[in-house]
Amino acid sequence: MLDSYRSLLQYGNSKLGRAIHVWSIPAIDTCPGSTALCRKLCYATRHRFRFESVRRRLAWNRRQCDRSDFVERMIAEIRSSGVLVLRIHVAGDFYSAAYVRKWIAVIKASPRVRFYGYTRSWQIASIAPALAELSRLGALRLWYSIDAETGVPRIVPPRVRLAYLQTTPASPPEQAHLVFRPQQLRNLPELPTVCDHETPAGKQLRVTCGSCSRCFR
Ligand code: SF4
Repeated sequence: MLDSYRSLLQYGNSKLGRAIHVWSIPAIDTCPGSTALCRKLCYATRHRFRFESVRRRLAWNRRQCDRSDFVERMIAEIRSSGVLVLRIHVAGDFYSAAYVRKWIAVIKASPRVRFYGYTRSWQIASIAPALAELSRLGALRLWYSIDAETGVPRIVPPRVRLAYLQTTPASPPEQAHLVFRPQQLRNLPELPTVCDHETPAGKQLRVTCGSCSRCFR
């Protein structure tokens, strides 16, 4: 019974800001499209994500995804918590087409909420069609995560944007709408596509996703 009473959603971290609600599941295990590069740099396997309490919480979240009432509970909580913006997966990814379809149902029932998320599961043939369907929902901004190992997808659904994980000083592909840089590359010359939180100027201004909003516009 306890499972049904715990909140599904949490508030954003220092990068996202408190105005954004988040949903996460265990990274790597739920990331069938992950690459060696993204696994090596994955923030969701470091720092607070190593705490036993956080790991237990994410495992609990993952179990909720399998429950037949996941969609109803998520919709009810979004409404009762007054969610305005929901980031799907600070940790984790769309691990199956059935799970993507649960989110399609949640988003369709929550027209006043803005959703966004990033995924490498576009590389998985059994999941890609469901992601294309998900990306068509106007309330959601879906980003296909790319890096030097994935390359640029051959087919990009019309509303999908590309987020590139830069791992060397070489210029990002011109198709990238957004560039994420690990700490050691943050002093490279600024580009308009670099995440505002990860530039020296953005750092000084304490930009959060809530104040920036580029990823969910
Ligand atoms: S570009 Fe803006 S909204 Fe997107 S991750 Fe960076 S700070 Fe957040």
